[in-house]
Amino acid sequence: MTKPLTPEQKRANQVASMLEEFRHIDYGKALGKTQKTLQELARISRANEDGSVRCVCCWKLVIWNGGNCHGGHYIPREITGPTIDPINVWPCCVTCNKWLGGNLGAFRMFLAAEIGLTRLKELEARRREYKKWTLEELVEKRVAWMEEIRHHRKRLN
Ligand SMILES: [Zn+2]
Repeated sequence: MTKPLTPEQKRANQVASMLEEFRHIDYGKALGKTQKTLQELARISRANEDGSVRCVCCWKLVIWNGGNCHGGHYIPREITGPTIDPINVWPCCVTCNKWLGGNLGAFRMFLAAEIGLTRLKELEARRREYKKWTLEELVEKRVAWMEEIRHHRKRLN
C-alpha cells in the first residue's frame, strides 16, 4: 500500500506539473491562464451563499459563474504588472465591464471606499507597469489561487 500524499506533496506535484505545462505553451497562454484563475477567484470569493455577487460598479446582483459576471480589471488587463494583482481585479457585470468600457468612474469610487485613496493611488501609479513574470511566479500564484477557489466552491455547495 502506498501512503496517501500529504497536502504539501499534492501541492508540490501540482506546482511541478503546471510548471511543466507552462514550459510547453506560449508565455502569453501561461499568463492568460493565470489571469483567468485570478478572475475566477475575484468572482467566487465575493459570492454570497446563493451564488450571487454584486457588480462593484453598478451594484447589480449577478451569478458568479452565470456568464453575466466578469472578473473586471481597473487597470486594463493588458498592463502586465497589475494584471495579476488581486487588488486590481473585481467582480463586474457584463454591462459595466464590456458595454460601458469598464465603467471606470464607478469602479474608482468603489475602490476609493474599499481600499482607500492611498492604495488606490498606488495602484493608479502602475498604469505603465509592464512586467515579464517568471513561469515560477505565475505557477506559484495560480496554484495558491486554485486552492482558494476550491475552498470557495466547498463553501457554496
Ligand atoms: Zn455593473
